Amino acid sequence: MSPSTRVRVLDLLRTAGTLSRVELADRTGLTPATITHAVRDLIGDGLVHEVGRARSNGGSPRRLLELVADARYAVGIQLDRCRTTVVVTNFFGRRLAGTVLPGVGHGEPADTLAALAAEVERVLAEAAVPRGLVLGAGLVTHGPQDRARGVIRTAQPTPAWQDFPLTATLSALLDLPVLLENDATAAAVGEQWAGDAGTDTFGVLYLASGIGGGVILGGDVYGDDAANVVEVGHIPLDPTRSGVCGCGNVGCTEQVAGPFAVVREAALLPGVAGRLGLTGDPDRLLDDFDALARAALDGDTAVRRVLDRAAAHLGAAAVTLMNLFDLDTVVLAGPGFAVAGPLVLAAARPVVERGALARLLRPVQLRMSADPEAVAAVGGALVVLRGSRGTDLSTGPVGRVSSPGATLGEVWGAGVVPA
Ligand SMILES: [Zn+2]
Repeated sequence: MSPSTRVRVLDLLRTAGTLSRVELADRTGLTPATITHAVRDLIGDGLVHEVGRARSNGGSPRRLLELVADARYAVGIQLDRCRTTVVVTNFFGRRLAGTVLPGVGHGEPADTLAALAAEVERVLAEAAVPRGLVLGAGLVTHGPQDRARGVIRTAQPTPAWQDFPLTATLSALLDLPVLLENDATAAAVGEQWAGDAGTDTFGVLYLASGIGGGVILGGDVYGDDAANVVEVGHIPLDPTRSGVCGCGNVGCTEQVAGPFAVVREAALLPGVAGRLGLTGDPDRLLDDFDALARAALDGDTAVRRVLDRAAAHLGAAAVTLMNLFDLDTVVLAGPGFAVAGPLVLAAARPVVERGALARLLRPVQLRMSADPEAVAAVGGALVVLRGSRGTDLSTGPVGRVSSPGATLGEVWGAGVVPA
């Protein structure tokens, strides 16, 4: 059986919950014999089991298959300047435990990663997960990244992070393989798994300290080999604006509608900074942003106007995603939407409904993630569970990585030392 057949069967079961062999054959386009073989191997490996029979109209009832929930586990870590989320998931991708931590701030990478590793160990212990069944950790950060080297290619949040060996260091600390993934892409993977988008072709607009985007086309991540696709936060909206964005452009979406822009503008309103206790600390940008969103939700009309303007720009960014990729669905995800979500949705939705070209053919929708704060971290765990971009992750024996920083492809290929 080819690795891709196993990966496809596991992925379908992970998304659908339960399926019969006939349904698997229908959905993969593979022959019943191929599916029968694949399922027999997966049951033999303890990854899949039968969980009962489906009713059928005549004929014998079909036996239903399901992933074995506790067959494997994964860690997902969403790392951001302002807020970090850690989750542990089972083989389904369901969160068993997690925590939200302060972000990277101005900390040195080595110290920050050591503290992070300690938190990961704590969450693994809380979830009571057998350490030997943990496949690895998906580390999810802003871009631009060099995924193969496991580094960030930008001096954010401080120059020390640029080209710091992130995955190698964390891998050595955790004694687990660590994969690097773009935060917005991971959020899209998490949304696809959750299935709330109701379609396997959709975009994600991601809001953390910055703005990013991810796209799933026909169930596949757009830009398979690239780490820096759909950078919708760095599309210039207003090139006449003063000041250069960190990316080198002028008037980027992030510059006019990101949390930094919102907090800076709202802080100029008389009395707002003091009344809401805004810190003005870039490391606590999302706390300030959340405080503004709470005030707007509580009826502060001046603050509300600032947020509404930003939300309209976010709506325009969603239209850009839709028109570039012919999408009818965009999901809002990321910690920036944890409080501001309903406000942004209300102000951005009309922009999408009048501007997305797909509306001429079918209904368009802008919707909020059911779990905006943690979905990218869950997506990071899913990237591990699913294997590195299609690499079979389930054939190899579970064990420790032979070399820190190895990719999962290497791990599940030849680099695994059985526990
Ligand atoms: Zn930019």
